[in-house]
Amino acid sequence: MLGDLIAAGIPAEADAPLGARTWYRCGGRAELLVKPRTVDEAAEIRRRSADSGTPFRVLGGGANLLVPEGVVPGITARLAGPAFEGVRLEAQRLEAGAGVDLYALVTAATRAGLAGLARVAGVPGTVGGGIAMNAGGAHGALGDRLASATLLDAAGRLERVPPSALRLGYRTSELGGRLVVAAAFLLEPEDPASIRARVRERLALKKAEQPLAAKSAGCAFRNPSGASASVGDPQDPGSWAAGKLIDAAGCKGLRIGSARVSERHANFVTVDAGGRAADVLAVMDEAARRVADRFGVALEREVAVWTTRPSP
Ligand SMILES: Cc1cc2nc3c(=O)[nH]c(=O)nc-3n(C[C@H](O)[C@H](O)[C@H](O)COP(=O)(O)OP(=O)(O)OC[C@H]3O[C@@H](n4cnc5c(N)ncnc54)[C@H](O)[C@@H]3O)c2cc1C
Repeated sequence: MLGDLIAAGIPAEADAPLGARTWYRCGGRAELLVKPRTVDEAAEIRRRSADSGTPFRVLGGGANLLVPEGVVPGITARLAGPAFEGVRLEAQRLEAGAGVDLYALVTAATRAGLAGLARVAGVPGTVGGGIAMNAGGAHGALGDRLASATLLDAAGRLERVPPSALRLGYRTSELGGRLVVAAAFLLEPEDPASIRARVRERLALKKAEQPLAAKSAGCAFRNPSGASASVGDPQDPGSWAAGKLIDAAGCKGLRIGSARVSERHANFVTVDAGGRAADVLAVMDEAARRVADRFGVALEREVAVWTTRPSP
């Protein structure tokens, strides 16, 4: 496959560092990391991987991803570069490529005096990953503002679909193996100064509550109640936020090797510089086990954990 891609002129790297490209900055490698420069190249790669039965994955900003030590089999594609990082304004519509950083998206909307994206202020990652995860917070999710998404399927076909086709939920989507290559958001005109003030306020709140300087992938688990911000019934642990459950199970500060449950926000599992993804996974598993034992609530991971095979 590597030879085929190189022959086709598509940038590809065998045995490429992958964990190092995530916000955890640790973990395994990609058997083959490809960086298509155009949508046509992305379609070609997707088609070839499907035809040859080669596993295929897409990496966004790596802000919600843990790659255990070892090798991710098959192709990992990264949609970066000018073809995937454009932002275009058309009246109240903001169109962005999948590789656009969410920070750049929020900034572009703010400058243009278009409101509706402050909900992802301070959320790291890309437009593609943001839609795949339906990123957001207490004030709503990215998908709430989505007008359409352009998807690439396994046969290399492009299709522009409405948000309803993605079955967006609380930190979930159903892309059916398709890649997001671009998205359009429908926003509302507002004075840039007041949007900027809202963005700053959300950033300050996030900074106060979350260990943003530490290496993490944001919230480790989804809230069991299925809601972003749940007040919760004091008598019903199933309605509590994941962080509250982990804290109440006595896990704040729980450390295994290089990873631990954050003291500041119990739903963040952080890792030391030069640490191990295996330790992060062990801390997540142990926290989930203690919550299940203590409260009978099964936590579901929000962080995507990719399967690796042992390094040769
Ligand atoms: C400090 C910190 C704070 C965070 N705070 C928040 C928060 O407040 N709210 C929140 O929702 N999240 C938060 N997160 C998690 C993360 O920022 C979001 O989930 C974000 O949307 C991930 O985007 P990404 O591009 O980095 O995706 P990645 O981590 O690269 O990928 C995540 C998943 O999306 C898939 N994916 C990526 N790109 C595409 C594409 N183009 N097409 C199809 N699938 C794709 C990947 O295959 C993977 O399964 C935080 C993370 C960190 C590190």
